Amino acid sequence: MGSSADLHVHTSYSDGMYSPTELVRMAREVNLKAIAITDHDTVAGLKEAKLAGKEIGLEVVAGVELSCELNDNEIHMLGYFAPGKEDKLEERLEWYQAKREERAFEIIDRLNRKGVKIDIGEVRHFSTGKSIGRLHVAKALMANGSARSIHEVFHRYLGPDAVAYVPKAKLSIKEAVEFIHEHHGVAVIAHPGMYRINDAVEQTLEYLDGIEVWYPEHSPSFEDHLYALAIKNRLIATGGSDYHGVGRNHIGCVRVPYAVVTRLLEVAVGV
Ligand SMILES: [Zn+2]
Ligand SMILES: [Zn+2]
Repeated sequence: MGSSADLHVHTSYSDGMYSPTELVRMAREVNLKAIAITDHDTVAGLKEAKLAGKEIGLEVVAGVELSCELNDNEIHMLGYFAPGKEDKLEERLEWYQAKREERAFEIIDRLNRKGVKIDIGEVRHFSTGKSIGRLHVAKALMANGSARSIHEVFHRYLGPDAVAYVPKAKLSIKEAVEFIHEHHGVAVIAHPGMYRINDAVEQTLEYLDGIEVWYPEHSPSFEDHLYALAIKNRLIATGGSDYHGVGRNHIGCVRVPYAVVTRLLEVAVGV
């Protein structure tokens, strides 16, 4: 059995291509000892993953990737959790999803008041996953002839200064980390090299338990920089493939020693 872990994997429960069971099988094939399932804003795929892991002999770590906001930049925060908290977690995450849906209702309401006919059914028609967002509203507006292009949709209806503009309700870094800690989780900033700002770690240091140092798109020198930051601030250094099933990455293409999993779970139990 392998002795390494891939701590960033997406299933079909968020925007990944493969089911949790398929991913567990693939992970076993590439000789991983553990994977963390880190779907966007949901832990609904965990149950299946854990079952498959038990059968196949692969450890599945409970995780989630939360979108949050830092001065108008979208930042992703990974949470890793001690075993046994999944149900409570999912309940709370659904509450956040409902909050996001409220935005779609508000947009529809404003459009209707401006005489633009559209209803929630038309919008849902364009949403495959659980949650609905602005892009689904845009597609529905084009489908019913209210606009001819995405550009027109945003210019006339949905963009800033347009008639039905409703800003996105995002978690702040503080809220996301508090959420993770409330559920006995460890907060790790995801892929710091993928943001429009390159000092996301420095700006969020006070909240973090860990940094995702090793990542497919990070350069070796940036990884060195992140690792030094982690050591200096006594944070856990993690890594993962962010595998979604498409593109050139594969599961386990970035892996960390299993000792990192042990450390994450120790801290998760302690917080
Ligand atoms: Zn991400
Ligand atoms: Zn991800």
